[in-house]
Amino acid sequence: MNKPFVPQLVYIEPKALEYELGVELKRKFETMGLEIRETTSHNQVRNIPGKNDLQKYRNAKSTLVVGVRKTLKFDTSKPSAEYAIPFATGCMGHCHYCYLQTTMGSKPYIRTYVNLDEIFGAAEKYMAERAPEMTRFEASCTSDIVGIDHLTHSLKRAIEYFGRSEHGLLRFVTKFHHVDHLLDADHQGKTRFRFSVNADYVIKNFEPGTSPLDLRIEAAAKVASADYPLGFIVAPIYLHEGWQEGYKTLIQKLYEKLPRHATEDLTFELIQHRFTKPAKRVIQQNYPMTKLELDEAKRQYKWGKYGIGKYVYKKDEATEIKETLSEYIHAYFPQAKIEYFT
Ligand code: SF4
Repeated sequence: MNKPFVPQLVYIEPKALEYELGVELKRKFETMGLEIRETTSHNQVRNIPGKNDLQKYRNAKSTLVVGVRKTLKFDTSKPSAEYAIPFATGCMGHCHYCYLQTTMGSKPYIRTYVNLDEIFGAAEKYMAERAPEMTRFEASCTSDIVGIDHLTHSLKRAIEYFGRSEHGLLRFVTKFHHVDHLLDADHQGKTRFRFSVNADYVIKNFEPGTSPLDLRIEAAAKVASADYPLGFIVAPIYLHEGWQEGYKTLIQKLYEKLPRHATEDLTFELIQHRFTKPAKRVIQQNYPMTKLELDEAKRQYKWGKYGIGKYVYKKDEATEIKETLSEYIHAYFPQAKIEYFT
């Protein structure tokens, strides 16, 4: 997807219009000539157009709901941060492996929250509890927040909010390259801007509706030039024919295209491909032609939260993935930190 996301349909909850950002977004979408409908609650956004479930699913992914975040209790977000901070849910991307397919269930539309000050207020309390320790907040647990931020600018406000905070750090990850409006945000070095990258094979086969790799890397270079701490999440690391070469080319490309100073404070997070049984069902329903390998027999079962275990690669394969990727990263970026492999 080279063009920034524009929703086909916008729902606005009346409560959202009690907030400045809600009013601002309504005006903006009217000026853009988008179809706007009013709804009393996001649970009522039932009438997404479409002849069948598949069409409804696709249309929902280009529907934006402007709403108010009611739950201000943040989830934990290990291993990348202490808490998940909710500015939006849902995503317009169509990555076959995306875990949002199961967490969003029958409501895969995108929802953006306008009560930012209340969300910041909740963050403030979490920071106070841990002070003087720093508290990290992950803004992309339930969406690809950068992908919609050119419309809402809520991430930009969050970056500046954490820039001013004494004990808070913000982080998020994206597969989109529409970062220009974030380059002049006063981040004070407190936001780690990460890009999700992968071997060509994975991007080509499993990540429709996201930005091409070269554009993501170009955006990463811009972000580094704006002095943001930079990071890459290689996820999901997926075994395929020629995978070693594929991942080597990726790391090499990063090395060739990033400005040298960006490599001084650079992090990598490595996440191997995994799936759960419920996710497998949803993936096969939403992307019936997918080539994604989802054979439990080829995987190792790992117990998970709420009794829903994940299927990850078998121990030997996982070790090989971890060692191979670490070797490439250390060879090209000796100063970079690999934060974790999971
Ligand atoms: Fe899911 Fe991220 Fe792909 Fe969006 S870009 S569909 S959040 S994996």
